[in-house]
Amino acid sequence: MEKEGLILSGVNGLYTVESENQTFYCRSGTRVRKNDGKILAGDRVLFRDNGDGQGFITSLLPRKNFLVRPPVANIDLLCMVVAPKDPAPYLYNIDLLTVLAEKNGIECAIIISKSDLADCSDISEIYGKSHYTVVKTCSKRNEGIEEVRNLLKGKICVLCGASGVGKSTLINALYPFLELETGELSEKIARGKNTTRTTELFPLGEGTYLADTPGFTAVNTELYCEIDHKELHNLFPEFFEHESGCRYADCTHTKENECGIADAVAEGLIAESRHESFKKLYYELKSIDRYK
Ligand SMILES: [Zn+2]
Repeated sequence: MEKEGLILSGVNGLYTVESENQTFYCRSGTRVRKNDGKILAGDRVLFRDNGDGQGFITSLLPRKNFLVRPPVANIDLLCMVVAPKDPAPYLYNIDLLTVLAEKNGIECAIIISKSDLADCSDISEIYGKSHYTVVKTCSKRNEGIEEVRNLLKGKICVLCGASGVGKSTLINALYPFLELETGELSEKIARGKNTTRTTELFPLGEGTYLADTPGFTAVNTELYCEIDHKELHNLFPEFFEHESGCRYADCTHTKENECGIADAVAEGLIAESRHESFKKLYYELKSIDRYK
């Protein structure tokens, strides 16, 4: 009997597949992997149920998106966990992730952690202007937790954040039944055999799944390989409505006079840090494109 299932994890060709609230351990035919490429956590597959909790994957269903690092398919929400201090947010890294999400058609949100440590209004303002969902949380005081839980509900979510932002503490506040040791989820993923990092989706009920990812650094390479500097402006959604204000049709929004984006920044409609990130990434991508 053939069933449809969701890949939770895969190690050495053995996949954990969830289907109708049951877990199956499946192998896959080389034909499936050959034709469709690697099977990732988050992939939907058809498999033959052997009737003993094991099965055989017969095909990989089409993906709506996927990331190479972390290797997860069909992501509904990419969350960036950011603390107001200790460590202070490095806005450029956050913006690299929003660009990556936009490039892959993934919704993204900013979750502020440890909001009791310092004023968070800057982060809220910057990303509020960028039309991203921003939720302020404090795990210690249980503030904003319900809101984040609702945001994640029914979605395959990836949580990113620099080390020290309190991701594990936040996950524990969200889903106490996971009973994570601090740092455990990241370690689970970082472990894996032959230093190959495997990504695992944690089922949290009501169709919610969470994949945790360690740092930010791996994301950069993926970005740089895939984005043409000329299309970068399309990945800053708050730019759209102001581009009609540019004098030149081919305005790069980096240095021209009479640029609608620069004007919007001057008027406080677009966050200056976002424009700075745009320019920095634009020049980095441009210098890479030259050597392609
Ligand atoms: Zn412009």
